[in-house]
Amino acid sequence: MLSEKLASVQKKIDEALALRKEKKVTGDMVTILAVTKNHPPEVVTEALDAGLTEIGENRVQEAMHKQEVLPKRGHWHLIGHLQTNKAKHAVEHFDLIESADSAKILTHLDRAAEQVGKVQDVLLQINEAGESQKSGFQPADFRAIVKTLDAYPHLRVRGVMVIAQATDQVEETRPVFRAGYEDFLFLRDALKHEDVNILSMGMTHDYWIAVEEGANEIRVGSALFGARDYTLKF
Ligand SMILES: *Cc1c(COP(=O)(O)O)cnc(C)c1O
Repeated sequence: MLSEKLASVQKKIDEALALRKEKKVTGDMVTILAVTKNHPPEVVTEALDAGLTEIGENRVQEAMHKQEVLPKRGHWHLIGHLQTNKAKHAVEHFDLIESADSAKILTHLDRAAEQVGKVQDVLLQINEAGESQKSGFQPADFRAIVKTLDAYPHLRVRGVMVIAQATDQVEETRPVFRAGYEDFLFLRDALKHEDVNILSMGMTHDYWIAVEEGANEIRVGSALFGARDYTLKF
């Protein structure tokens, strides 16, 4: 049952909040992003009916299909790497794009947002784990890009997204999440506006560590919806 799984995730979040040794600027409310990728559209409905409001998808096409067959509900977050040729669709179909990972994609998103006539909320994805196969700004590149964000007037940078390395020693993710929190502070101090308030870190295997280190959004799929079905076509 989803409600039971949700309760156990919430319990683990509360335990992690209680373990924090210092107050975090990201506050002590944690949003659960329901990651419904590779699940059928009904799973989105199930999540929303359970009271979750934030829906995470990693592919534009898949989210577009689900939005087409479902009534208009929820806030949609893009969490997968985005190609420039899909920037316009992404702007049209997502409330928050968490995976902005290069100056090039920021340029395309800014242009698309202008065309669509919206200000697009985005997070800057940082490759804090330094894995060569993962996308995201390298930490030094992130700090450099933060100084250039005025160049994208149709984007509103809301915070930072971090994916930790896959590991069976979950404690190894802690320094990665710590670095994510530090970079969030850097962004917040640089932009000086209150809209910089989202630190998206942690997934099924490590979210409690991320929360302890300051995450105020966790992206959870398998812990809520079980194994993904990679045979589904959208
Ligand atoms: C798939 C995915 C998740 C959720 O993964 P689980 O391990 O199932 O919780 C979170 N974040 C990103 C970026 C993802 O691609």
